[in-house]
Amino acid sequence: MTSEMTDLQKRIMKLKNERKALILAHNYQTLDIQEIADFVGDSLQLARKSAEGNGFDIIIFAGVRFMAEMAAVLANEIPVYIPAPAALCPLAAYVNAETIRKVRREHPGVPVVIYVNTTADAKSEADYICTSGSAVEVVESIGADKVLFGPDANLAEYVRRRTKVEVIDITSKGHCYVHQQFDEAQILLLKEEHPNAIAIAHPECPPDVQDVADIVGSTGMMARTVVQSPHKKFIIATELGMVQQLQACHPEKTIIPAYDHAVCRQMKKNKLEQILEILENLPEANLVSVPKDKEEHIRTILEQMNRVKGQGPAVPVPVES
Ligand code: SF4
Repeated sequence: MTSEMTDLQKRIMKLKNERKALILAHNYQTLDIQEIADFVGDSLQLARKSAEGNGFDIIIFAGVRFMAEMAAVLANEIPVYIPAPAALCPLAAYVNAETIRKVRREHPGVPVVIYVNTTADAKSEADYICTSGSAVEVVESIGADKVLFGPDANLAEYVRRRTKVEVIDITSKGHCYVHQQFDEAQILLLKEEHPNAIAIAHPECPPDVQDVADIVGSTGMMARTVVQSPHKKFIIATELGMVQQLQACHPEKTIIPAYDHAVCRQMKKNKLEQILEILENLPEANLVSVPKDKEEHIRTILEQMNRVKGQGPAVPVPVES
C-alpha cells in the first residue's frame, strides 16, 4: 500500500515509535488502519505476532475483542489495548462456558474444539482451540474419532468434509452474519462473467458457496494464493477489508468482491482517532484483560494451537490455456 499518509497517520507513526508500540491489525480493518499497522494478518498470524512482542512497551490490537483478548493472554505481560472496546463478534455470542459444559455432559469423553471466535469464558472450558486456517490440522492432530466443534456451523462442515473425524456441532445455529450473506448463485454469475477468475471463499461461508468456490480458505490463505498464483483475476468471498487490501497490495491483479456489502460493522468500529488517543493517553477503558483464573488454561490451548502449522502454502491452481 503506497498512498500518501494523512497528517493523522503521520502523527500516529511518530507517536508509535516514541511509545514503542506494536500495532497489529486484522485483515478486515479499514485500509487507513492497515497502512499504519506493523503487521496485518488473520487470527492465527496475529496470535503468533502477539507472542513475539518483546522489545515493545504496548500492543495496540485493531480487531474484535476476542482477538485482543488472545493477544493479551499471549503477550508476555505487555499491555494490550483495543481501539474500540465495544467491537464484539456476534458469532462469539453463540456459545459460553455453560453451553460447553452441557454438550460435554451429553457427549462424555468427546474432546471440545472451539473456534477462536469465542469469549474467554467459552475458551476456558475448551480442550483445543483453532482458527479457520488451522481447524483441519488441529482436529486431525487430536487423534480422536469424534470431536465437539463450535460455534461456527459452516466451519464445522468445512472440517467435516476434510477429515475422517465425526464433527458434532456444539450449536447448529452459530454463524457469521457477514459470511452468511454470500450466495451460491452470485458466485456462479461472477464466474460466468469472469471465466478466468479464481473464486476463493472463506470457510465461514455457507456450504453451497464453498461448493462453487475453486478454493476455500482463511484470509491468510487468500493473501498467499493471490501472491503465488499466476492467475490475474480473483473473486473473493469474505469481508470487504480483505478485498480492498488485496487490491491495494496487488494493483497488477483484479480482485472482485463476491458481494460488495459484506462489511463487518464490529471490525469497522476501530478508528485511527482511537489509536491516537491510546498512544497519547493510554486510557484504562481500552486496556484488555482476561480473568486471571481463566488465563493459564487459555494460554496453554493457544500455545498448543500456535504449534500447528496452519493452512500451509496456497493451493496451486493450474493456469488455464
Ligand atoms: S466478520 Fe463475522 S466472524 Fe469476523 S468478527 Fe465480524 S461478525 Fe465476527
